[in-house]
Amino acid sequence: MRIEQDLKLDFKDVLIRPKRSTLSSRSEVDIAREFVFLHSQQKYHGIPIIAANMDSTGTFEMGRTLVRHRLSTALHKHYGESELLAFFAEQTDAMLPIFYSMGITTPDYEKFQRVMKAANGSIRHVCVDVANGYTKPFIRFIHKLRAAYPNITIMAGNVVTGEMTEELILDGVDIVKVGIGPGSVCTTRKMAGVGYPQLSAIIECADAAHGLRGLICADGGCTSPGDIAKAFGAGADFVMLGGMLAGHDECGSEIVEVDGVRKMRFYGMSSREAMNKYAGGVAVYRASEGKEVLLDCRGSVENTLQDILGGVRSACTYVGARTLKELSKRTTFVRVTQQLNEIFG
Ligand code: 5GP
Repeated sequence: MRIEQDLKLDFKDVLIRPKRSTLSSRSEVDIAREFVFLHSQQKYHGIPIIAANMDSTGTFEMGRTLVRHRLSTALHKHYGESELLAFFAEQTDAMLPIFYSMGITTPDYEKFQRVMKAANGSIRHVCVDVANGYTKPFIRFIHKLRAAYPNITIMAGNVVTGEMTEELILDGVDIVKVGIGPGSVCTTRKMAGVGYPQLSAIIECADAAHGLRGLICADGGCTSPGDIAKAFGAGADFVMLGGMLAGHDECGSEIVEVDGVRKMRFYGMSSREAMNKYAGGVAVYRASEGKEVLLDCRGSVENTLQDILGGVRSACTYVGARTLKELSKRTTFVRVTQQLNEIFG
């Protein structure tokens, strides 16, 4: 039995240490980034936050709203072909990705082939999403996809370790998605006992990816703007958000009334609720690895965006980073035993 004794950390275990700075206001901070993706060679310029490809956050409405603020969206994979084509035809900014999402099944791939053929070049970014990015079929799928579509940007995952990040980048992935188990409605850690503390996963995978000129997207576990700042500080190039963007008008999720109060349903994409909706129930050999929660309705996501972007700008100001790119270079984490003063709950 081997036990790794190195301490691995989560967002809650650290704070970002303030540093001397010549910045006088957060309005001086530029939180957009520019990249040229390693394999696709496509250019990116935007605020590198992506709405998760869950059926409540990866919606067309979310995509349209976030694009106006220069953020990205990974659409969920349950849209029909004609509505996807119509949506992608609307998108005009080639440097601001909207990701088409898919799993690795044959029907997923065949649907993608048909949509790509009809899309006339309007789909340029894809997200290949599996719960466990350590399997042979996943790697084989990435090889097939990259060989067939040399010019599309591929984001794929999820993994949590440096060696698998390197493997995926060498296999043709532009952005490796990092995170197993940290999600707000994920129960993998409980059901399977598997996972990896997210801050350490980001630090280790970013280091591995950057050595090969690849990028990573930190996926899951952010509960506040400060966590997003920590993810960028740890080296994430992109940050993906589910729960923080849930509960908004743009999610189009089902509303239920509880004791006269309107609540919005939000569930994991591997939850019983999602499997009942899309897969005709939970297959006998598997357990649900997500849960459902009922959220307060939070109005338009635009209100929340201001908090998120303001928080990230503030973090940059505290460490003297004039651009988001500088944030990780200027980040020193301090380990803490307490994050917040909880006296008022
Ligand atoms: P959040 O921002 O809500 O903490 O995390 C969002 C991420 O959780 C998603 O992008 C996805 O990677 C992950 N996720 C979504 N649904 C499920 C689920 O049902 N089970 C698991 N294990 N992860 C999920």
